[in-house]
Amino acid sequence: MHSDSARQRVLVTGGAGFLGSHLCELLLSEGCEVLCVDDFSTGARHNVEHLLGHPRFRLMTHDVTVPLDAHVNRIYNLACPASPVHYQRDPVQTTKTCVLGALNMLALARREGARILQASTSEVYGDPQMHPQHESYWGNVNPIGIRSCYDEGKRCAESLFFDYHRQHDVDIRVARIFNTYGPRMDPQDGRVVSNFIVQALRGEPLMVYGDGLQTRSFCFVDDMVTGLHQFMEADSGGTGPVNIGNPHEFTVRDLAGLIIELTGSSSKLAFSALPSDDPTQRRPDVSNAERMFCWKPRVSLVQGLERTIVHLARLTASAGSGPSF
Ligand code: NAD
Ligand code: UDP
Repeated sequence: MHSDSARQRVLVTGGAGFLGSHLCELLLSEGCEVLCVDDFSTGARHNVEHLLGHPRFRLMTHDVTVPLDAHVNRIYNLACPASPVHYQRDPVQTTKTCVLGALNMLALARREGARILQASTSEVYGDPQMHPQHESYWGNVNPIGIRSCYDEGKRCAESLFFDYHRQHDVDIRVARIFNTYGPRMDPQDGRVVSNFIVQALRGEPLMVYGDGLQTRSFCFVDDMVTGLHQFMEADSGGTGPVNIGNPHEFTVRDLAGLIIELTGSSSKLAFSALPSDDPTQRRPDVSNAERMFCWKPRVSLVQGLERTIVHLARLTASAGSGPSF
């Protein structure tokens, strides 16, 4: 893969975020030129600070709801807040980012003849009535609820991608990303993995929403960005949509227990109300990813959590608010 990628000029929108910063690292290691575009609404300069001196890396502050010109032949469209806490803070901006961001990046891909990958989401399945979720399932989404700015925004983006493909022959890839965790997660972003780890490290109760019997399938970030890159570069020419995620399913309670065990914490569980429209179950069918570009997740939840705990323990310790593990 290295020799093909070496000729590429790659735009990563949302490149200063959690997934984007790992993807930029991977692309640089593959020999690509990387243009990282971000408005820093949920991402941070410190996520890519270590890349700033790299001769093939450039960082640009830009909001994707505004058109952009750049000479690139690959575009990864990741710009969008991923955490419910963040995307619900300014839901109108979330919808704009999903829809106008997709339109602007698709227009750029068309002008440049670039291949473009959309970071879509398992949220397009809503609260799924098919389990595990296969790409052929159309989903069960509340169009007017508190998650709909994100769910419907991402669904509209998928529809735009396929219309640009049919109408303008743009070379698209649509990846449906399932819950992803790992080092460089923002401890404040409200995701279950980061919240539980920070609470366990501080010896505080782990706050489970609802009864904790809802399930998620957690994918380690290295597996995720490898999957996105393999999909982008696969010769199969398949547009997707393709699920990328770890098919091992855990209840939120299982996750809490595992994190308490791995941190050696004395924390107990506490319970609070389940947010509305919170999906009851999530597990990807990843057979298409395996068939189309030979991808399978390699990192187990225990291995991935151990690495994430090290990262969050460092931040917690340097903030002076907890034990250093
Ligand atoms: P993140 O919030 O860490 O990163 C998103 C990045 O996009 C941030 O750097 C943010 O500043 C930037 N951004 C937001 N709005 C923008 C705008 N209008 N213009 C330019 N930049 C903007 O989230 P993440 O976890 O890295 O997610 C990256 C992508 O993957 C998102 O599109 C998200 O929907 C998708 N995704 C992530 C997950 C997950 O579990 N992390 C799951 C499904 C889908
Ligand atoms: N959750 C929880 N405690 C938290 C944060 C989240 O119990 O501190 C639950 C949340 O209600 C959901 C699951 O954990 O059922 C996953 O939440 P997350 O925000 O990570 O992502 P989602 O997959 O819902 O987008």
